[in-house]
Amino acid sequence: MSHNLAAQFDGDLGAVLGSEADHETIAETFQRRTFRGREYFHFPDARHGIDRGVAIVGETVVPGFPSIPRTLVLDPGISGVFSGPIYIEEKLNGYNVRIARADGDLFAFTRSGYICPFTTHLVRTDPFEEFLAEFPELTICGELIGMNNPYTPHEYEDVDDVGIRVFDLRKNGTGTPLSPETRYERCAEYDLPEVPRFGTVDPAEAPERVATLIDDLNEREREGVMLKSADGETQLKYTTAATHQADLAHAFSQPFDYGREFLFSRLIREAFQAAERGESETERRERAQALGEAILLPAIEAVETVDAGERIGDEHTIRGDPTAIESLITQFLSQGLQLDIREDYYDDGDRVVTFCKVARSSQDKIEHYLAGGLIDQ
Ligand code: ATP
Ligand code: MG
Repeated sequence: MSHNLAAQFDGDLGAVLGSEADHETIAETFQRRTFRGREYFHFPDARHGIDRGVAIVGETVVPGFPSIPRTLVLDPGISGVFSGPIYIEEKLNGYNVRIARADGDLFAFTRSGYICPFTTHLVRTDPFEEFLAEFPELTICGELIGMNNPYTPHEYEDVDDVGIRVFDLRKNGTGTPLSPETRYERCAEYDLPEVPRFGTVDPAEAPERVATLIDDLNEREREGVMLKSADGETQLKYTTAATHQADLAHAFSQPFDYGREFLFSRLIREAFQAAERGESETERRERAQALGEAILLPAIEAVETVDAGERIGDEHTIRGDPTAIESLITQFLSQGLQLDIREDYYDDGDRVVTFCKVARSSQDKIEHYLAGGLIDQ
């Protein structure tokens, strides 16, 4: 076991895991990486009772972000989970990032615990610096949103480029969240940008309130809501039809890169939502039509794109500090991603790169079938 990792098992990490845990086995699952010459470790999957994405930088144990359960029905899904007041926040559609201070510097981590050079550069500014200088024992959890992000570009009218919206503050080591009330106060005090929120509601009133909010969010093509208990420990998610359909459209633009479970789960969400809303014959037909279009149209387009000799995949444009962008691209390549660079130039000291993360399975399979390869079904 590396010296730095061993020290952590005697420190914070050991306290979180308890004495029964098999430290040797757990240590072997941690991946050793370097970021600008600094060694760190991360836990890429949830295993051995450890959350996915836990990272260790020097003395700091950055907690992983837990997987949040979803309800398919508002009633009685919500009252089955919450017994006291419920804090309602908007669920934004972006990429989960955690920001923590270690050895005097700020680092931003991806879901699986890599240090992201692009996001790290973005957060080494106020108010994040100021906040974590004051509360070095906390990890800020937020969603990276906006069109110019390297992970999940989705348009938000109030974000021109890229931005972070905070939805959680957790203690390093244990990952215990602060209560929503405390988080709102601290974020306001330090001007940390937050996710939009919709106040509190009692469990009995929640289904109706959430249904109304979801109608409005759906109209605006937003993702959904996150419901939270007063201590921040219990969370529940529920999403809009617009999101289920957009997820399907995206998956079917790269049909062989997404598991069948991805398709099935979105269909099931739609079925339960339509049934709970008691949709009329016309409404359910409209939903069915939209769903069918979301699936088939992008899939046809994918076949045509490959047939025209082009690459399919997710296109992203990022702009920023040249060193940060260079190291992000190097990191993507070292993770085995195939990038098709479509534009690369400098603008006012920033480097601007448009690249496509090639959807390799879809690309290869579509080429194969277009050439007459037979399908065994
Ligand atoms: P999983 O939660 O199973 O790992 P996932 O990353 O696809 O899968 P989502 O369905 O996107 O999960 O829902 C959980 C994510 O929603 C969180 O990890 C977080 O990044 C994001 N999120 C957006 N807005 C909020 C919010 N207000 N509160 C909490 N999480 C939010
Ligand atoms: Mg998400």
